[in-house]
Amino acid sequence: MLQLLAATSNKHKIGEFKAMLADLNSRVNIVTPDTIPNFPALIEDGKSFEENAERKAEQASAYADMAAFADDSGLEVEALDGAPGIYSARYAGEGASDAERIAKLLEAMKGQTNRKARFVCVIAIAYRGDDVALFRGEVHGTIAEAPRGTNGFGYDPVFIPEGYNQTFGELPGDVKDAISHRANAIAKAVKFIRAELDSMDDFEFV
Ligand code: IMP
Repeated sequence: MLQLLAATSNKHKIGEFKAMLADLNSRVNIVTPDTIPNFPALIEDGKSFEENAERKAEQASAYADMAAFADDSGLEVEALDGAPGIYSARYAGEGASDAERIAKLLEAMKGQTNRKARFVCVIAIAYRGDDVALFRGEVHGTIAEAPRGTNGFGYDPVFIPEGYNQTFGELPGDVKDAISHRANAIAKAVKFIRAELDSMDDFEFV
């Protein structure tokens, strides 16, 4: 069985990953960082989602000596020239809450008629410190005038995905899991992992 380390400490993300990898359950065991002694904090000092995801996956796979995947994700708002982007988690400073980040975003968007935004997720897979593959997923939508709903995390209460009237905070988790940026990127990664498992001869992780 393939041991695959999910290089994130975000419990919401691990939950989403496990749900979407469920059909590979008999072939892949998802390992979480809390089960690896002294797992280091992963440094993300890249200039793009791709660079950050790659660096996290490289560091995790080298430390744990197993295949690892990492994601880097965030919200890009058109009227704010792509902000908060790769700084989504730190948009209102270190240690700020989701509510504080949302408040800062809504303040920056005050009076804005262009409310187009997208969530981006890039997943990198690495083995023994080397990159193996990179996958990008996006979901497009708009920024609500005020937060609505308590589902999900982060900016979910202010993001209305295209084709819906409700925010990700209001929509059931399974709806988000079907259309989200992370779902999109994971679907591509799962397809890749399945193809690798099916052609074990040139499988890079075992
Ligand atoms: P990361 O952990 O470095 O990828 O930071 C991503 C940040 O972007 C999170 O802390 C959230 O603020 C935001 N974000 C990423 N994905 C989502 C999502 O699915 N819903 C809401 N916010 C998200």
